[in-house]
Amino acid sequence: FFIAFEGGDGSGKSTQLELLRRRLDAPLVFTREPGGTPLGNQIRNLVMHGPDNIDARTEALLYAADRAYHVATTIRPALSSGKTVITDRYIDSSVAYQGLGRGLGVEAIRDLSLWAVDGLEPDLVVVFDVPVEVGLQRAGAEPDRIERAGKGFHEEVRAQYLSAAAAKPQQYRVIDSTLPVEEVFALTIDALLESCS
Ligand code: C5P
Repeated sequence: FFIAFEGGDGSGKSTQLELLRRRLDAPLVFTREPGGTPLGNQIRNLVMHGPDNIDARTEALLYAADRAYHVATTIRPALSSGKTVITDRYIDSSVAYQGLGRGLGVEAIRDLSLWAVDGLEPDLVVVFDVPVEVGLQRAGAEPDRIERAGKGFHEEVRAQYLSAAAAKPQQYRVIDSTLPVEEVFALTIDALLESCS
């Protein structure tokens, strides 16, 4: 079973992943993008702290390279051996940030991403949803290169997650991540149990 956690900056998805990791006594594989592998960590460093003139296409290809390697070396082998994998970000991040946010086109980025991973789609996508102002405030005082993008950019990212979820209600669950952490956690567990059963 393959699960992706998605959400804008400061959406609380990483906090929820950490809670799951600590509290669930199940043999889950937790991983993340960008940076789920040593090579991916180098790419993560480039896209987050690299030069300001990294253009949108270069950024999209760096994320695609990170994901291709991540799937080939970590995710697919784990799924093949029967494990459940939970990744912090996957294709929907690229579609939201580079497809809509950077204006490269939702379809183009979906196609590029699916090509990079040879068609591997998640069984479940959990979207942690918060208004942009809340997310950016939570994201903290030292914003990275992407967090410094304007509020309009982050509004587009959020809108893309919500429309992807609305189009495929079987595959997506949207969680109101403005709720207290423990309530979000309970909803997250519900979403996982519901779709794994
Ligand atoms: O979720 P996390 O904070 O680790 O994401 C790292 C950074 O990369 C964030 O600023 C996120 O907005 C950005 N990102 C992006 N496009 C992607 C994936 C992540 O701009 N496809």
